[in-house]
Order: sequence, then C-alpha cells, then structure tokens
Amino acid sequence: MIKTYSMTDWIQAYSPESIIGKARDFASLAHEGILRASKEPYVTHCIKTAESVYQWGLDDATIAAALLHDTVEDTGITIEDIAKEFGEEIAFLVQGVTKLAKVSYEGNDHDNVQAENMRKMVLAFCEDLRVVFIKLADRLHNMQTLQFLAPPDQKRISLETAEIYAPLAYRLGMQKLSGELEDLSFPYLYPKEYEWLLGAVKEQFEERQAYAERVKPIVEKKLNEHNIKPLAIDCRAKRYSSLYKKLLRWNMDIEKIYDLVALRIVVSDVAQCYTALGIIHQFWPPLSGKIKDYIARPKPNGYRSLHTTVFCIDNKITEFQIRTQEMHEEAELGIAAHWAYQQIKDNAEQKKRWHGVADKKELAWVQQLRNWQQTFGEQKGFLEALKADFFKDRIFVITPKNDVIDLPAGATPVDFAYSIHSEIGNQCVGAKVNHKIVPLNYKLNSGDLVEIMTQKGKKPSESWLEFAATSMAKQHIKSVLRSKNKIIQEKAKQAPSLDFRITAQTRPGLLKDITNAFHQSRVSIESLHTANGPKLSVPLVLVTCPILEQQKIEKLLVKLKQITGVKEIGYKFNR
Ligand code: MN
Repeated sequence: MIKTYSMTDWIQAYSPESIIGKARDFASLAHEGILRASKEPYVTHCIKTAESVYQWGLDDATIAAALLHDTVEDTGITIEDIAKEFGEEIAFLVQGVTKLAKVSYEGNDHDNVQAENMRKMVLAFCEDLRVVFIKLADRLHNMQTLQFLAPPDQKRISLETAEIYAPLAYRLGMQKLSGELEDLSFPYLYPKEYEWLLGAVKEQFEERQAYAERVKPIVEKKLNEHNIKPLAIDCRAKRYSSLYKKLLRWNMDIEKIYDLVALRIVVSDVAQCYTALGIIHQFWPPLSGKIKDYIARPKPNGYRSLHTTVFCIDNKITEFQIRTQEMHEEAELGIAAHWAYQQIKDNAEQKKRWHGVADKKELAWVQQLRNWQQTFGEQKGFLEALKADFFKDRIFVITPKNDVIDLPAGATPVDFAYSIHSEIGNQCVGAKVNHKIVPLNYKLNSGDLVEIMTQKGKKPSESWLEFAATSMAKQHIKSVLRSKNKIIQEKAKQAPSLDFRITAQTRPGLLKDITNAFHQSRVSIESLHTANGPKLSVPLVLVTCPILEQQKIEKLLVKLKQITGVKEIGYKFNR
C-alpha cells in the first residue's frame, strides 16, 4: 500500500483487496505527485470526500466512487479504465460526478428561477442520487479548503454553493450539511457583514453557551423525575449565516434573537417528545406563538421536531428543540438517512417507523422519493429505486448565454425556440445541439447546449405540429398558421369567379353589346378587358363576373351568341 498521504483511521481499516481499499490505492496512484492549492497531496481531497459519504452511511460503491471522483476529470484515466477495474456501477457514479463538473452556474444575482432550474438540472443530470451525495461531499471539502484559492474563485464557488448546493442539500433534508455549506460561503459572499457579526455576537454567543450549559442539568433532572431519560441534550449555537438572515428581519437587534443558542433534547419516541414539552412548559412559561409542532406538521423538506421558546432560568428567553433519534438523524442526514435505514435490512421495526412518515405533506419530490422507497424498497432495494428518474418528465437544456431552460421530456429545438421568444420560434429555420446541426424534430436531452438559427420573415410550418411537445409552441404555431390561412382565404374569397372568353369580329359597339347582355341578365361585371385573339384580326374579350348558377350561365350564353360578330364563347370557374 502506498503511504504517501496521511490517512484517517476509517479508511486505513480497509484492506487493499476490498473495493474501498482498492479505490483508495487507485486514487492515490492516479493523483500521485499532484498537490492541492493547500499544498496537501491531492488524494487527501478524495479521502475527505469519501469520508463524508461514509459518515452519511452510504454504500461501498458510493464510497469507492467518491474516492475516484476526480480521477477521470484530472488524470489520464478514462471511464473505461474505471469500469474495467471497478465495474459498471462505480464507473457510472464516477461518470455522473465528472459530467456534473462541467455544469457551471454563473449566478444571476436574484434570479431565483435560474437557480431553481439549475438545482433541478443538477438532479436530473445525475440520474442517481448517489452522484448528488458525492458532489455535495466534494463541495463540502472544497468549501472547507477555499481559503487557499484566489478571491475570484472563492467568490464564484461560494455563490454556486449558496445558491445551488446548500438549497439542494436542504431539499434532500440534509439540514446540517446545508447549514455548513451556507456558513462556509457566508464570509466570502458577505465579508463585511461577517466581520460585523463576529464582533457583535461573539460575546453573546459565549455568554449564551455558558447559560445553556447551566440549564442542561436542570432540564435533565426534571425530565428524569417524569421517567424520561433523554438520549442526548446538547447546546446548539445558531449558525452565522442563518443568524444574519434573521437579524435582517429584526433590524439587526441581537436581543430579539432568542435562539442564538438552543437546547436540543433527543428522546426515545414521539410520545416522550410531547411529554417533555409539557414538562418544560410546567416550569417555564412559553412565549405565545413560539410553539412549533413540526412533528404534526413537518417542514416541506421533511424536518420534524417540536420547538418552543420559554422564559427559562433568570427569566431568560430560551429555545428548546425536542425530537426523537430518528428525527434527529433525518434532520442531519435527510434522504441519506433513509438509505442508512434501508441498509439495516433485518431491523423491521426501524423500517416501519420510516414508512409511517411517508404520508405527511411534503415537498412533492421528496414525497415521491419516499414513495419509491415504499414501493420499491422491499423488492428491488432502495438503492435501485433511487436511480432517480424523478425528473423523468422534465429536461433541462442550456442556452448559448448559459441560461437553463426547463422543458418537458421529448421537447425539440422548436419547443426550445418558442420558450425563448415567440419570434425566435416563428423564424426558426434550423438548430444546433452541442454545436452540431440537428433536425428540428430532434429530441433534446438534459444538459444539451441548444442554439437556434433564424431567418427574418420565416413562418412556422404545419409539420411542426407533429413533433412540438409544449403547448406554448403548439399555440404559437397554430395562431401563425391561422393568420396565414386567413390571408389565403381572403384571397380565395375575392377569387371565386367566372371568366367568359369571347372571340368576336371586331366592330364598333361590340363591347357595349356584350356589357348590355350581362346587364340584361342582371349579372354584374367585375372586370372586362380585351386581348388579341389567336388570329390577330379576331379580338378576345375577357369578362369576369361572380359565380353563376348553370341555368343563368346558359341564358347568358344564348344572349351573347345573338350578338353580331361573336364567334366563340368559352367560360371557366375560378375557385
Ligand atoms: Mn473533487
């Protein structure tokens, strides 16, 4: 085994023959001689990434893929090499992380739609949630070592972290990670505010911490008296980033922030949560409106806990959070916790507890993930079920300006063009996907870079309706086609007519006699002109009139034939 790097105990425990040991040695060889900006051997980053994934209780394939996650991106190793050495599953995970590295978020300030689409794209792009976990672990370590990078990189990576990855972790229910990522990016994004906060709250933090330590044994004693043995009571200091957000809402008045330090009580079951809440309220009166029951009504990301703010010892306002061990782990690990639970296959009791959560009102797709766990969990394994196509109905493509456009699956360049602007749709003549020309009915994939070629004055074709997938595109196409047809119809409306072609010996008064014949038959003349007939001496008179019934035509023909000099009469309908 190559020991050119310092290894933490957990990874040292794996033998070189195990898949994780093999991945560790492979990665250290692949990145040999390469240093991080921190001057540490590069492989320390791979191990740190794998360590988080390991701590989240994920499977061996994910841990191995985390160790290998930068080999294809940064060294001469190919995905095929990984597949050969470690099998398809690990290669698939490594490829997912490699592909994701190419997605960059430029960060439109305050553009929530862009950020939201980007988050969705990251998920859709990954196909397997384990790729997201590796990416989050990778990002965590990159943020922890961000001080070694140049300021512009610090800012860019922090922005992406705060706007994409921290919210993503939150959505996956990984509150602890989400908070850590936010806190790590905060000083880079808001350096002045961070400085101010350090000066303003440090003392309060310490004072509150000491106070909470004083409250702790008293609470424990009171709970014990009621036969509740808390599994843990700890003092949780509020994160700087969330404290700052809260201060903004309270006019920067730190005295109004009651949960600067909160006491977190972990008990064995839900009944004990409520009992503990009652005990606390018995001794210390709660502030009105500050009791939150997130057990009965979990937060959209699945967070469950009881929160209360009371007048505690010395009449100090103090927040308590009460939850079970499961709720606690879920709050820390979110979706990853479900995974860990699934791994404890023979513990049916724990599984049952999990499934009980599923019917709570939650953010649609977190709910969907849980439903999968219920549906597929037992048969195929949760892992299999999480080869997530939970955005299977949506794709996310990129404009040349690096904006992300959210489209339904099956969308084509025409749908893309109309989603940008109706005129771009109407004038679309061609499309390039990833710099290659494609037909307009090409089915787009997530991550495609799409460019539209337009031509002024061009109109959509009816055939587009056969492949356009969005109702927006269809509506635009139909409305343009309707107005196009209208013009044709307008023309057609004027056109239906009857042309008479009369050859006659020229003589004075001939045209007058012809027009008289029409007038006498009460047929209005729309136009009348003369031309040279087939024989030069014989002129041709062309008369156009509205469509007539056959009977009326016959009568008119008789009249015209009676005119002196008329030789031949023909007629035809123009429709
Ligand atoms: Mn990395």
